[in-house]
Parts: sequence; C-alpha cells; structure tokens
Amino acid sequence: QKQHPILQVQDLAVSYGHIAAVKGIDLTLNQGEITALVGANGAGKSTALLAISGLLKPLRGKVLFDGVDISKLSAHKIVQSGVVQVAEGRAILTTLTVAENLALGAYTRKDKAQVALDLEWVYTLFPVLKQRMEGLAGNLSGGEQQMLAIARALMAKPRVLLLDEPSMGLAPLMVQEIFRIVQEINRTGLTIFLVEQNVRQALRIAQHGFVLETGKIVLADTGANLLHNPKVLEAYLGG
Ligand code: ATP
Repeated sequence: QKQHPILQVQDLAVSYGHIAAVKGIDLTLNQGEITALVGANGAGKSTALLAISGLLKPLRGKVLFDGVDISKLSAHKIVQSGVVQVAEGRAILTTLTVAENLALGAYTRKDKAQVALDLEWVYTLFPVLKQRMEGLAGNLSGGEQQMLAIARALMAKPRVLLLDEPSMGLAPLMVQEIFRIVQEINRTGLTIFLVEQNVRQALRIAQHGFVLETGKIVLADTGANLLHNPKVLEAYLGG
C-alpha cells in the first residue's frame, strides 16, 4: 500500500541561546510506521522532539501534521491534535496511583465511553499496571514507571506517539520488553517516532530511520539498510 506522510518536519532549527542544538532538519514519518531518530548523546534528538511537541519554541521551520502546520500551536493543543510525547525521565506523578496517572492522560477527552475502552486496552498491553492500579506510581520499578508513562500517553488517544529514550536506564530484560511493547502498539496502526541511543534495537524495529549528528541529519534510510550501513556500524554499533 502507498505510504502516507503523516508528520513532516521541514527545516527545523532550535537553539538554546547561542547554542544551535538542531540546525535545520527535515524528517518524514509515514502513517503506521515506526520511524527511529538515532544518534549519540548530545546530538540534538531530545531537542528536536521537544520542538515537535511544542515544548520548545523553534527558531525556524515547520511541523506539518496531516499537512497542517502545528509548529505555532501550544503544547496542549498539539496533544489534543493527536501528537503526544512520552517524556524522557518518565515524569509520572509518583504520589498518585497508577489509575490516577492513567486518568490524567485522558483528562481533556470528551469521549468517555471510548476512554473506558482505551483503559481496558492499556491494561491488556500492560497487565502489571492493572495488578498495581491502586498502588502509588512511585512504588513501581523503573521499567514499570516507563510502562506507565507510555500507557498514560496512550490514554490521550495519540495519532502519532513520540517516544524519547524509552529504554534508558532499564535492565536488559526490561529493555527487550519495552521494545516488544512498542512494536505491539505499532501493530494497532499507531505511528511511532522513536528517539533512541540504543541504535541497534531501534533500527531493528523501525521501518525507517534518521541519524542525527551535532544537529544535522546525516543519514536517512530504511531501518534495515541503516543497520548494515558501514558508517552506522562504525559510529554506533562498535564496528
Ligand atoms: P541525550 O540523549 O543526551 O538527551 P540528545 O541527542 O537528545 O542527547 P539534546 O539533549 O537535544 O541531545 O542536546 C543537544 C545539544 O543541546 C547538546 O549540545 C546539549 O548540551 C544542548 N542542550 C540541551 N539542553 C540544553 C539547555 N536546556 N540549555 C543549553 N543547552 C542545552
């Protein structure tokens, strides 16, 4: 079937004062695909994601969602339009219960019957969250907190899910579990933009990928091609 570009980033540039972190990048996400953005520490991946989700104001550039420029919208309007970011460092509310965190993810939604169905779906994806629904989020393990952060974003009914380093700081088995769940979510048709330092794992599950180096896209290809690209092998996969 034909690929439909659901999110297009055009000439996006972001600076922190005099520090240019993202230097005019172009990206396209196809509907229904996992697209990976990989690169070293400090390459500008998080900055690019924060600008797409409206949490940082870009210096210039456009973010087209279904052809409409959302780059001037506030962060909460962008969430309401369907572009939802799962934050790095998780940012769940540790003094609230799991169920309360999930309810917060859906709080702007009016379609309450669908919210209830989505909650059931999220509990199917993450059975551990169902078991712990009355427990405080702060008592979850690091991996479970990451699951809760993803689950909470799903409760906002995204059409594009932005994930910033979901595997960061997790034990190897939990990393596998998170990547498996990302694929499972994608199989429901949800478009996913996956920012990762775990280059190998990200490119394995991504249909397309972009490599960011010091604020610029240096490679764009299918995930499979990037995994075998000599430059990627040398710079990110230990030769
Ligand atoms: P990481 O995986 O470590 O988050 P990254 O690829 O996501 O790396 P960014 O966090 O986007 O990279 O950082 C890009 C550049 O911007 C780096 O040089 C970083 O030092 C700088 N930077 C990031 N945040 C700020 C800030 N709040 N103030 C000033 N400079 C910043």
